[in-house]
This record gives sequence, C-alpha cells and structure tokens, in this order.
Amino acid sequence: MLGEGILKGMAETARNFAGSFVSKERLTTVEYPEERIPTFENARVFPFLVYDTNDWEAGLRCVACQICEKECPPKCIYIDKSKDKKPDYAGKQQFYPTRFDIDISVCMSCQICVEVCPFEAIKMDTEFELATGDRFGGLLLDRKQLAKSNEYYHRIHPTEAAEVDVRLAEEKAKANAKAKAAADAAAAKAAAAKPAPHVEGAGD
Ligand code: SF4
Ligand code: SF4
Repeated sequence: MLGEGILKGMAETARNFAGSFVSKERLTTVEYPEERIPTFENARVFPFLVYDTNDWEAGLRCVACQICEKECPPKCIYIDKSKDKKPDYAGKQQFYPTRFDIDISVCMSCQICVEVCPFEAIKMDTEFELATGDRFGGLLLDRKQLAKSNEYYHRIHPTEAAEVDVRLAEEKAKANAKAKAAADAAAAKAAAAKPAPHVEGAGD
C-alpha cells in the first residue's frame, strides 16, 4: 500500500513518544552533559596510537612505515621517521616516528589508517569531547597526545583488543621460533666447521 512505510514509522514514533512518559527505556534522549549514554564498543571518533609497557614513547607500536600517512584520504597525518631503530614488541629492531601528528579538524573518522596499518599500532578512539577555541594548534594532536596504552584500548574496545593481543602473541611466538631455528642452525654450522682436536701420538 502506498505510504505504508510512512504510517508504520509514524506509529513507531507515536508509540515511543507516549511510552517515554511511563517507561525510561523508551526515552531516546538524555540531558547531556549531566546525563550520558554509555559508549558503544564499536563507536569510533578519531585515531590514537597504541603503546605497550608503561612507557608511551618506547612502547609505541608504530614503526613509522608511513602507510597510513599515504592512504589517509584527506592527508591529515604527518609522520617523520627516526634515523635510528629501537626494538618493537617482538624484539625486532624497527624505526619509530619522531613526529606523528593528526589534524583532527580535517580527519573524517573513516578508519582507513587503522585498516591499512600492518602493526596494530593505530586504532579508533571513542573520546568525543575535544572541543577547543584554538582552531589550529588545539586540533593538531601530536604523538604524545595520541599515545594511549593497550589497557586503554582494552577498556574501550575489549573484543577487538583481545583479538589483536592473540594475533600479536602468535606473531611473536613465530618470530621467536624463527630466531631460535636460525641460532641453532648457525651453532650447528660453526660446530661442523671447527677443526677436530689434535690427539698426541695418534697415527704415529
Ligand atoms: S580516520 Fe581516515 S581521515 Fe582520519 S586520520 Fe585515519 S585515514 Fe585519515
Ligand atoms: S600507524 Fe601503522 S601504518 Fe601508520 S606509520 Fe605507524 S606502523 Fe605504519
């Protein structure tokens, strides 16, 4: 029937309107900021950088590969790569960002930076109360402002963070097994190349 969908929608609105006077569940708005609705686990606002350990700088997962910078559609990520290296979460020597800024006045929360990052280093935050009177500097977040611990990641996206932890632990175990196999092979090669000890009187 023509207009059936509109009538159904209006009936639902009327049901919620009348119901909101008797049932709190039917109230679809709250008196913000005094009242707040809980943040959904899959909510996303702007990106943040994940770090492990208690040291935000040394523990940053980001290796400054700059893939996210290249793929960000509005080009609001700015990265400078270090000249030296530091060990990553798996103990592998990696570069790190000496500068990692995101201009959140330009970011469109598309999450592409998260999708393309091969190191689980950048994730979407749920923090939305970021208003400031400083239109330029205040909305250009640097790596210290962007850095948030893995514990924080677990608090805001528990399911996703747990899956990431499992994945990283598997990769770390694989890397350790590979390193051990390489070390064992090198030791076996060195032992094989060692000359046999000379025994006095042997063969005289
Ligand atoms: S969420 Fe999208 S727009 Fe924002 S920094 Fe990431 S890639 Fe760029
Ligand atoms: S956040 Fe990820 S993709 Fe972006 S530079 Fe760091 S490691 Fe590379």
